[in-house]
Amino acid sequence: LNHLVADAPTTIFTLMSALAQRHGAINLGQGFPDTEGPAEIVKAAADALLDNRNQYAPLTGLPELRAAVARSNERFHGLRIDPDHEVVVTSGATEALAASLAALIEPGDEVVLIEPLYDCYLPMVRLLGGVPRLVRLLPPEWRLDRDALAAAFGPKTKLLLLNSPMNPAGRVFDQDELGFVAGLLERHDAYAVCDEVYEHLIFDGARHVPLMTLPGMRERCIRIGSAGKSFSLTGWKVGYVTAAPALAAAVAKAHQNLTFATPPNLQRAVALGLDKEAAYFHGLAADLQRKRDLLSRGLEGIGFAVLPSRGSYFVVADITALGFDGDDTAFCRHITEHAGVAAIPVSAFYGDADPPPRHLVRFAFCKQDSVLEEAVARLRRHF
Ligand code: PMP
Ligand code: GLN
Repeated sequence: LNHLVADAPTTIFTLMSALAQRHGAINLGQGFPDTEGPAEIVKAAADALLDNRNQYAPLTGLPELRAAVARSNERFHGLRIDPDHEVVVTSGATEALAASLAALIEPGDEVVLIEPLYDCYLPMVRLLGGVPRLVRLLPPEWRLDRDALAAAFGPKTKLLLLNSPMNPAGRVFDQDELGFVAGLLERHDAYAVCDEVYEHLIFDGARHVPLMTLPGMRERCIRIGSAGKSFSLTGWKVGYVTAAPALAAAVAKAHQNLTFATPPNLQRAVALGLDKEAAYFHGLAADLQRKRDLLSRGLEGIGFAVLPSRGSYFVVADITALGFDGDDTAFCRHITEHAGVAAIPVSAFYGDADPPPRHLVRFAFCKQDSVLEEAVARLRRHF
């Protein structure tokens, strides 16, 4: 057995969802909406299933979806993309990440990662023989520390993995920070794999700027999106990669040996979704912003200190003032079992190099208002 794989713990999302189910708890842990995405997109997939769209799709994706990804890049970010040579459709952003990292990393290459980080990044990098160089963001602002970031780059740096908007911190990196990152990539002749699955889920007038749009970055960035997040259909696992031709071709080579292709019926429906009017995407963000505020106000009323979140499905809350006797993991277990509300300990988003913070928990607010209200009521009764 490969101990990197076989000895890995089961993901915290699966553990907490199972615990939530066992205790009949409201699941504000794993990030998935509890309402379905747009009915016409779901219907388009159903129609495609019945329309004999059930054999292998082309390796890099249906032409209609690649064209829609290119149009979406132009419409929202002013990027001119060649759908035939610069887009690869994948089975979720997760496969897009695996394929992108596999396309770039050779054993011994250094990979700069930013903590707190999404849970699959470190295992993927390690499995490919990459050497992680971790840089920490500090709460509550979670701003990039320029010196720490610069110190993580060196002659062996192959790439930076950049997640913005960020899970779990809700950080949306600003133009200033991105400019600094771009300078480092140029200086060290490195790439960036940009996990932008929450690109449309942004709040308070924040603007999501893909690193790829900065001067000199067009050839250095692999940009990753997810239909699961943009259309509230997380079970579909349809992702898309945008990159310059040489990079996209390498990602396609990795993809051909990972999954080869992605279900054509779902691809057809996602193509329709990407062409939806701007009001849809703005409405999605506005709705989530309202839910963020609903949950945050409720948590603050109970004694949590809620950290700012400018994007994603998540808020991070500081539990210190509640006086709980135990760390974030014990706290999440405790509220799942005894208050009937599940959350995720933020320490799960750190590597094992240095001790993580133990006073922060992540709540998902992509739930119906009544569910968020009930969760707050349960926590209030408990504390
Ligand atoms: N990256 C981040 C930061 C995420 O939060 C998620 C969602 N779970 C993914 C990637 C994976 O996306 P997908 O479900 O499309 O594979
Ligand atoms: N991205 C989701 C989250 O952060 C989890 C997806 C998964 O369970 N792999 O909650």
